[in-house]
Amino acid sequence: MSEPLGIFGGTFDPVHFGHLRLAEEAIGQLGLGGVRWIPAGQPPHRGAPQVTAQQRLEMVLRSTAGNDRFSVDAGEVETAAPSYTVDTLERLRAELGGDRSLVLLVGADAFVGLTTWHRWRDLFALSHVAVAHRPGFPVEVASLPHELATEFADRHLADAAGLRAAPAGGIATFAMTQLAISATGIRKLLAAGDSPRYLVPDSVLDYIRLHQLYRVRL
Ligand code: ATP
Repeated sequence: MSEPLGIFGGTFDPVHFGHLRLAEEAIGQLGLGGVRWIPAGQPPHRGAPQVTAQQRLEMVLRSTAGNDRFSVDAGEVETAAPSYTVDTLERLRAELGGDRSLVLLVGADAFVGLTTWHRWRDLFALSHVAVAHRPGFPVEVASLPHELATEFADRHLADAAGLRAAPAGGIATFAMTQLAISATGIRKLLAAGDSPRYLVPDSVLDYIRLHQLYRVRL
């Protein structure tokens, strides 16, 4: 059986070292064969965006280049309709078959909001979920909405070996190097004319400058 494949979706507006460490440490801690990054398409309500989905995709491509274990999936960016994670996982199942173990990677803040995701319960039929600790967001049953706490209790995997034992259905947690970096914080820095250097890869910063994204005045 091939190694589990990590699936990492996000807005990546812009991609930063918190994302990169999450993906890198997930591989080591969860025994993944690799991580497929899937930048979200452009949400329709954002209006004329200053940063397009294509530009967010480009920044993810630049920051992940050179890591053999990372791949980038442009499927959501290239779809005009809003793509829900459950749709994307169904597409991946059609591509990869039902036996491959898939592990949806989420930060603790995203996991707490899982019950608001489209067809959220169906996610567990399609993949495992692995939750990364994130500063300020405890991963404990008491802090979860009731329905999610029940799923967590039923599905919690004591260790990463459970991710190989079945193609989907478990919930694992993992502790990553705690980095209080957020895309919101980076956008604020840029809007104020301050540098996000060392919070994002240089290749991302170069791209932001080149295209004058986020009202950059650097
Ligand atoms: P924003 O500040 O715009 O909400 P973000 O920094 O949270 O953005 P997203 O693209 O929304 O980035 O996040 C994609 C995924 O990465 C989510 O599952 C999120 O929880 C996780 N993530 C982002 N930053 C970190 C971090 N510093 N530590 C752990 N997980 C993170």
